[in-house]
Amino acid sequence: MTVRILAIHAHPDDLEILAAGTLAHLSRQGHSITIATMTAGDCGTAEYDAETISAMRREEARRAAEMIGATYVCAEFRDLAIFNDDPSRRRITELMRRAQPDIVLTSSPVDYHCDHEATSSLVRDACFAAPAPNYQSGDAPVLGRIPHLYFLDPDEGRDREGRTVTPDFIVDVAEHMELKKRMLASHESQRTWLQKHHGMDNYIETMEQWTRDRGRLGGITYGEGYRQYRCHPYPQTPRLQELLGPLVRNTSGA
Ligand SMILES: [Zn+2]
Repeated sequence: MTVRILAIHAHPDDLEILAAGTLAHLSRQGHSITIATMTAGDCGTAEYDAETISAMRREEARRAAEMIGATYVCAEFRDLAIFNDDPSRRRITELMRRAQPDIVLTSSPVDYHCDHEATSSLVRDACFAAPAPNYQSGDAPVLGRIPHLYFLDPDEGRDREGRTVTPDFIVDVAEHMELKKRMLASHESQRTWLQKHHGMDNYIETMEQWTRDRGRLGGITYGEGYRQYRCHPYPQTPRLQELLGPLVRNTSGA
């Protein structure tokens, strides 16, 4: 049975860093993947105007998604302008109703970037709203039920005060590391920007090191971390874990 998975994060490249290995695996299993970003990354540049960089980054994200046969959509918010308000919640609910996901992966509720945190709460609330027939969002059909919801790791696995955020489980992505690197490498515009703004001149190597660090938590070479949102009335059964089977390693903090 084909399972529909919606992975939605704030900016182009976030999902490639945090979840590409898992998504590659799910795609190879024959599941349907939608990769969504809230913005087109319009502030991730010191060289181009917002419209130019957005067009470049939409194309980079589309190419990365294409590598695993995923569909790419952009919710067309602007960088540093994502808020959990009424129109934004309806916009994300509509996006979700179009994707009709069984499983949703999104950003951590605590993270270094305000867009990541706002995305997390909007997606959480859209999962709740999407099956409610009287909640108007557009033309897309309501969801049959609340999808299974998972949070990805925050940047460096830490909250804003530097405390460790431990995932419930780690997914073994060793088999997909070369593909994960190629997906991230499609975000060419970000290499230059991260050198200038973040003082980071090794985009791919930093991602690889991070994936290695996460793997260590699960006693494996390369991994990606997940926390399942199990608050009532969200589904509590381990749907994603069951799909991934032996690739799932528990962490000591679970
Ligand atoms: Zn981001």
